[in-house]
Amino acid sequence: MVKNQMKKNDLVRITISDMGINGEGIGKADGFPLFVKDAVIGDEIVARVTKLKKNYGFGRLEEIIIKSPVRCDAPCKFSRQCGGCQLQALKYSEQLRFKHKKVRNNLIHIGGFSSADVEAVMEEPIGSQKPFHYRNKAQFPFGKDRDGNTVTGFFQGRSHNIVANTDCILGVEVNKEILECILSYMKEFEVPPYDEEKGKGLIRHVLIRYGFTTGEIMVCIVVNANKLPEEDILCERLSKIEKMTSVSISVNRENTNVIMGNKIRVLWGKPYITDYIGDLEFRISPLSFYQVNPIQTEKLYTKALEYAGLTGNETVWDLYCGIGTISLFLAKEAKKVYGVEIIPQAIDDARDNAKRNGITNAEFFVGAAEDIFTEFMEKRPDEARPDVVVVDPPRKGCDKKLLETILNMEPEKIVYVSCDSATLARDLKILCEDKYRLEKAVAVDQFSQTVHVETVVLLSQQKPDDHIEIEINLDEIDATSAET
Ligand code: SAH
Repeated sequence: MVKNQMKKNDLVRITISDMGINGEGIGKADGFPLFVKDAVIGDEIVARVTKLKKNYGFGRLEEIIIKSPVRCDAPCKFSRQCGGCQLQALKYSEQLRFKHKKVRNNLIHIGGFSSADVEAVMEEPIGSQKPFHYRNKAQFPFGKDRDGNTVTGFFQGRSHNIVANTDCILGVEVNKEILECILSYMKEFEVPPYDEEKGKGLIRHVLIRYGFTTGEIMVCIVVNANKLPEEDILCERLSKIEKMTSVSISVNRENTNVIMGNKIRVLWGKPYITDYIGDLEFRISPLSFYQVNPIQTEKLYTKALEYAGLTGNETVWDLYCGIGTISLFLAKEAKKVYGVEIIPQAIDDARDNAKRNGITNAEFFVGAAEDIFTEFMEKRPDEARPDVVVVDPPRKGCDKKLLETILNMEPEKIVYVSCDSATLARDLKILCEDKYRLEKAVAVDQFSQTVHVETVVLLSQQKPDDHIEIEINLDEIDATSAET
């Protein structure tokens, strides 16, 4: 380990030779590694040392001396301030390489797979033709700026200071119109934004969803009260925005970082919007999960379907199923699909979605996957023994009890869809310890400009080596040879 010779505030000239999992550039000053936010691989820079630990340190980008060939101009003027996009200054092809490598490294370092095995199974990353304005959902925090003006935008990296911006380039254009309508209503009727420290004020967040295929818009205002002043006026104004479909309030009076409250009250229009993925129509409620990048989602689900390799005879369990999107994609090619999801409103959506699409071979259960699937398999295993299990958990990955049940049930294939390749790798280590083999893996870019990456993995059952046993009857051989 190289000993540090630097002091805080020193200026050092370094070449960025790698990038960390959070998108920081990493370079060495006299062999001592420094992490520098906003520097990209290949840059030669001057960094100011901001923090030193025993084996590494942090620096702030002061000057770019030689621009990396993979650097590009970040199109958003807030990109360095805002915590949302960590890779805007990296050319898109390089963003894809970064994500592919992130998955690869996690499979090797956390999953314990050999680099040769990982390289043999990983397919080329699936990129996006629309790396900006791709998000169908955004949750904007409301607060006050230093001068006391009500603002909305995004949290600055690692803080709760709001960078005022109603026009994020990852989102859809109509967000600006909606946010400005709400800001002007707040100003006119002196509706205060929520103050996290004091627990006072009213508007906390605004959730906006947009159906890319249908154009339908949902606005859900998260409020620290049961009601808003002059609700009718706000509703009337919002409802005039073209294609507005659903306006609701979510009551959240808790002192928490969780954005949405559990109670939704519809103020105007429908309690949901609809959208299509491929030729399937989906109903989406405010509390339900729905993939944020609809164009890439179709590619993601198509990959999951390809990996599942269905022939029409299979029983499939889709665990962590949300509103049943993957379930219904699979149902077209399976005998029967069972979906499990913890949010009751999402399961209401899933059942309605099956009906909407005339799909009759999908059944849905509300509850924790680890409980519902385990109980079902303990009590009635032969009724719905899985041939294929699909899991698509949140970032924390699968529950250990669920992994055990899956292993006990020995499905032929496991398709793992993951939004966090570190927890994916942790879970694969358990699944592939003995019974399963890593067959295929691919990174799908659902979140361009950010360090996040979606991964689809196929595991197949490890069969004992097929020993071809040939019994040789020596007497017979002798007899035949004697005859000739
Ligand atoms: N497959 C879906 C949803 C994936 S997101 C899609 O592609 O849209 C993960 C989902 O898991 C969320 O809907 C979340 O509500 C749900 N969830 C979280 N913990 C769960 C658990 N323990 N059991 C079942 N579902 C859970």
